[in-house]
Amino acid sequence: MTPTAQTRVITLLGDPIGHSASPEIQNAAFEDAGVDGVYVAVRCGPDDLQGFMRGLARAGGGGNVTLPHKEKAASLLDVRSEAVRRTGACNTFWSDDDGRLHGDNTDVEGFRRALRHFLGEGGRDARVLLLGGGGAARAALCGLLEEEVDEVLLYNRTQDRARAVARRIGGERTRLVSVFRDLENEDFDLVVNATSLGLREDDPSPIDIGEMLHRVGAAMDLVYGRHTTAFVRSAELAGVRACDGLEMLVQQGAVSFERWWGVDAPVDVMRRAVQRLQPA
Ligand code: NAP
Repeated sequence: MTPTAQTRVITLLGDPIGHSASPEIQNAAFEDAGVDGVYVAVRCGPDDLQGFMRGLARAGGGGNVTLPHKEKAASLLDVRSEAVRRTGACNTFWSDDDGRLHGDNTDVEGFRRALRHFLGEGGRDARVLLLGGGGAARAALCGLLEEEVDEVLLYNRTQDRARAVARRIGGERTRLVSVFRDLENEDFDLVVNATSLGLREDDPSPIDIGEMLHRVGAAMDLVYGRHTTAFVRSAELAGVRACDGLEMLVQQGAVSFERWWGVDAPVDVMRRAVQRLQPA
């Protein structure tokens, strides 16, 4: 659809944004769904965030927020979703007819949908090891608890951050692991990597799955790239079924689409857009 004076402008706000696949994914979805919108990435510093969010939303648009602004964005909203309240982060914003700024953290629902895509109903009652203590770990912990897993053991290199995540989101089903060695010979239905290890092609895996753990049912990396991550390689070497973060990327984008347009997202079209960006 050629943009006109009625076209809604949906933006990605962050810094840096040059590596983002969201413009390709969302514009493919907008075109397939026949909605009158255009998605662009705008590099934005912290002092400009409020002006961009309010101005764009009031003009009928909306957007995504990415690093390093997700927490600041949460503080600027008039209406926060449950996921924003629980995680303290916002990655999607839009406005209602009264001009109030709404926000959601679609990483939570995106994680849940990616988990179900990977495991079906297999997440329910699972015993899970979650690695990480940043924003992705918060979203994953919320999603895991909402999916009614049985128990989550949470490990992060910096213990204080893991403690803060558990205090904010965890309940009696969340347990902190302070010493990596304590995991030796444990069984897990699922191991989730929510650290940023794996972003670079030469990053090591945060855990050697075959060496460290006794039995693992499945391994889910939230990290994705143009290469196979070391975490996925480590799982596959140990004969464990694994996936990277591309499906979560698609699914969190699909939930954002639904917030802006109020209709289901064309998820297959979004998956194909992601695949086109991967090396052959
Ligand atoms: P973040 O807030 O910066 O947290 C980074 C995490 O990685 C922390 O737990 C950090 O541990 C850990 N870490 C970094 N370097 C490490 C190392 N050398 N050894 C061990 N741990 C290390 O980042 P985030 O927002 O949580 O994002 C984490 C990853 O998830 C990113 O790669 C991001 O791309 C991915 N993600 C994917 C999706 C998706 O849709 N697939 C969505 C959101 C995020 P410390 O606390 O000890 O520093």
